[in-house]
Amino acid sequence: MNLILMGLPGAGKGTQAEKIVEEYKIPHISTGDMFRSAMKEGTELGMKAKGFMDQGALVPDEVTIGIVKERLSKSDCNKGFLLDGFPRTIAQAEALEQLLADMNQPLDFVLHIDVPQDQLLERLTGRRICPSCGATYHVVFNPPKQEGICDKDGASLIQRDDDTAETVQKRLEVNIEQLQPLLNFYQEKGYLETINGNRDINEVFQDINSKLGELSK
Ligand code: ADP
Ligand code: ADP
Repeated sequence: MNLILMGLPGAGKGTQAEKIVEEYKIPHISTGDMFRSAMKEGTELGMKAKGFMDQGALVPDEVTIGIVKERLSKSDCNKGFLLDGFPRTIAQAEALEQLLADMNQPLDFVLHIDVPQDQLLERLTGRRICPSCGATYHVVFNPPKQEGICDKDGASLIQRDDDTAETVQKRLEVNIEQLQPLLNFYQEKGYLETINGNRDINEVFQDINSKLGELSK
């Protein structure tokens, strides 16, 4: 199954992606995670991305398209993939069309997790992540069993550098502007499925799961 998860920052893409990849056994390709791990390792890519991410701006298309192209060429993507946070611009969506055509891999669905904008600030500023396994929590909506500690591997949770109120504002502005044209792009091609993301995490997942079951028949 070849899927794209789309939605504004904080909509719940990463949270649902964890569940989808467990259920469907496909690789989770998150451009945000790839940039964060490059930054942690101090690679050239990480250094290029850092300035943009710290400001809440998008990393330039050519850099982002380059890393996705490289990732999709790995053999584990032959059985499908879940793209999370890519594409975020029309130029990226067009590049992806070309990449998939070259790979002879059709896109199956684009799932748009739709959440009212006024919910996103609270979701993002309360987000905590595990620096070692990448699991996502929320201090109120999805707390770990023991405060500040990852349920999966016991690491101390951290707040992302770009989840401060000021950077969040900027990220929301940038992404709100980019999202609608992308939704139109995929709607016209008939791939778009909208999921109501303004519900409990498990209810959102049940909806995604039943949609994927129905759609893939
Ligand atoms: P995205 O990847 O779209 O930016 P995340 O999956 O990281 O979003 O979720 C953002 C924050 O909101 C996290 O702290 C997460 O635990 C929380 N969250 C995710 N889904 C829900 C939901 N359905 N209800 C409440 N909080 C949620
Ligand atoms: P969220 O969905 O919570 O905004 P991500 O982890 O997807 O967070 O993205 C974090 C940051 O990484 C973005 O603010 C941006 O700087 C960069 N980024 C991630 N994906 C892309 C993309 N497809 N194009 C450009 N920049 C990206």
